[in-house]
Amino acid sequence: MMREKQSYAILDKFRVFAAVLVVAIHTSPLLSYSESADFFFTRILGRIAVPFFFMVTGQFAVAGFLSTKKQFYDVLQYVKKIALLYGIAILIYLPVGIYAGQYEKLGVWECVRMLVFDGTFYHLWYFPACIIGVLLVYGMGQFMRMPQMLAAAGALYVVGLFGDSYYGLVEEVPVVADFYGILFQICSYTRNGVFLAPVFLLLGAWIAGRPKRFANGNVRLLSLILLLSFLAMTEEAFLLRHFKLQRHDSMYVALLPVMYFLYEALLACGMLVSGKKQKRRRNTQVLARLLRTASTWVYILHPAIIVVVRGAAKVVKAESLLVENSLVHYLAVLAISLPVAFVIAVVLNAWKQEPFRRGRAWIELDRGALAANVGLLRSLLPPSCKLMPAVKADAYGHGALLMARELQKLDVDAFCVASVEEGAMLRKKGVKGEILVLGYTHPQQFGLLCRYHLIQTVIDHHYAVQLNHFGRKIHVHIGVDTGMHRLGERSENLDQIAAVYRMKNLVVDGVYTHLCVSDTDGRRDKQYTKTQAGALYQLVDALKAQGLPCPKVHLQASYGVLNYPDLAGDYARVGIALYGVLSTKEDTEKWDGLQPVLSLKARVATVKTLYQGESAGYGLQFTAKKDMKIAVLAIGYADGLPRALSQGVGHVLLHGQAAPIIGRICMDQTLVDISSVGKVRAGDVAVLIGYSGERQISACDLAEQSGTITNEILSRMGARLERMVVGV
Ligand SMILES: *Cc1c(COP(=O)(O)O)cnc(C)c1O
Repeated sequence: MMREKQSYAILDKFRVFAAVLVVAIHTSPLLSYSESADFFFTRILGRIAVPFFFMVTGQFAVAGFLSTKKQFYDVLQYVKKIALLYGIAILIYLPVGIYAGQYEKLGVWECVRMLVFDGTFYHLWYFPACIIGVLLVYGMGQFMRMPQMLAAAGALYVVGLFGDSYYGLVEEVPVVADFYGILFQICSYTRNGVFLAPVFLLLGAWIAGRPKRFANGNVRLLSLILLLSFLAMTEEAFLLRHFKLQRHDSMYVALLPVMYFLYEALLACGMLVSGKKQKRRRNTQVLARLLRTASTWVYILHPAIIVVVRGAAKVVKAESLLVENSLVHYLAVLAISLPVAFVIAVVLNAWKQEPFRRGRAWIELDRGALAANVGLLRSLLPPSCKLMPAVKADAYGHGALLMARELQKLDVDAFCVASVEEGAMLRKKGVKGEILVLGYTHPQQFGLLCRYHLIQTVIDHHYAVQLNHFGRKIHVHIGVDTGMHRLGERSENLDQIAAVYRMKNLVVDGVYTHLCVSDTDGRRDKQYTKTQAGALYQLVDALKAQGLPCPKVHLQASYGVLNYPDLAGDYARVGIALYGVLSTKEDTEKWDGLQPVLSLKARVATVKTLYQGESAGYGLQFTAKKDMKIAVLAIGYADGLPRALSQGVGHVLLHGQAAPIIGRICMDQTLVDISSVGKVRAGDVAVLIGYSGERQISACDLAEQSGTITNEILSRMGARLERMVVGV
């Protein structure tokens, strides 16, 4: 399951380079020296910049919108972000535009055209193009698959080509010329969100989702093909210029292969780089974010800087150098644009800092551990058996939404929850895939099952009647009681179970049972488990014989997968093991491939001295035998720390040392003895579950000390704890 590490930092660097190219397009740096050289620089090389921006958007945004994981809401959020930038840019250029008389005598239609296609200033067309492109591609995604979408976007690109650099070929063709005549009434160019953006957005999205990278990321081979396609594009552009076919010059046939291979080559370089240096990731991330923001602002601001440079040149009477020498002009614009953009990026970055969430007590969730556990569990199961993680009880205290989102990234697309509300919450937050409600849903809430496309467990025959009576189609898995005697219709009641299939409003998607002694390996328990599995499969066969096939059959939870891997059905409803621990310390130690996902940490609120003979806490349970240092931690039983760990039972870790809990644990505070820990200050971090230095406290330790199982400790983690995913 280990994925190759991919670094995208190179894409962020290339964005800045692309922005520098865009500045070139608008300043024609080589014009003073050679018109052809300038044509090459700005109209050929420069033309890779904007498609590159579209491809990055495709890879990082559109790919998500097209996958099953996002909803229209997310698309709108994204569009809103771009629209906001566009709005700001419009305001920035309003004075310049007014001064230049651009907005005089505009009709309503011209205004719309300007806003939607051409941009209110010459370079601003990019923003509406991005919005229209994203919406168009999302729309296509609703009823097309990737190959069809690529074909459709390719067709639009061809229409665009004939309105752009190949216009000369169709200018005289009767009907076609009329078509373009009308088209140019609507938009002044074809390099916009309809004809140019979609194909590059989709290429980026396709690259993000494709199973195998081209030639396994062979940089040399990719560079060679890139070079050849770029030469072809150069040839193409000069030919078009020679025959004066161009109406505008931003679209070429060879631009498609150039962009594809350029992007692949960059990604392949990213693989090499990331293989070499993995350290200092955080700094790299911050830098990457700065580069990204800065490139956007170079793009937005450079035309204004051009105005400034021209103005300044006039004032200091240096026009012959600063304006008329095209190269100096270009460099001057860059010399101002780049630093200004970086300053803006730094300011925005500081302003957008995430709210501080490690203030009091919090949970850190280790992404790498989760991936390792998913990998381990999958490796025990045949490929036909899907994981259906149990994210009930807020994912055993880990945070259901956070976990579901992380699991989706690991290609998990089925979940089970205990209640209809838990399922509805996940759906509202955009979690896709199957969600099975394992527990009881009140008939008054059946509507939620339909609204949020949840699958309900049939608890027994009587419950099925109620579900059916609701009158709308409900998807169900039939719960079968094979010996736990909790939920489910008894396995021997074949007729009642068969009757569920015949209820006209119920769609039976699966049949399952739950094992109740799969965690222990006594002879009697093993036998019992076999009997349970036998009863389920006997039922399945009997149903089949009646012409009632079970689409999906499942019975394993965590211990079922670990102890009885050959019982694998179509799903494994894994809970506790997925979170990297097992119910007891002993079991957890036996399966040392599992890695705990959750750590629990809290701040030291204050440090004080307790003098000999003084007592502390509720009930004055603890008395100091000699003068000693104690620390007050900002965490209590309301945060899920079992009160049973009070006085002499539990301990926490501070600077890698054990600090015993003293007195009674309070609702929001806990006292610890720090006599054997070095220097402790207010604000230091105490570890209640997790590693500190070499030492570890596991959730299993807490369970053992407080006389329960790990599952209970985890699922009772408090709601007021901040939860955050960490790691790569
Ligand atoms: C909670 C639950 C699970 C998950 O159990 P784990 O032992 O945590 O893996 C699976 N199936 C059902 C019916 C459950 O209630």
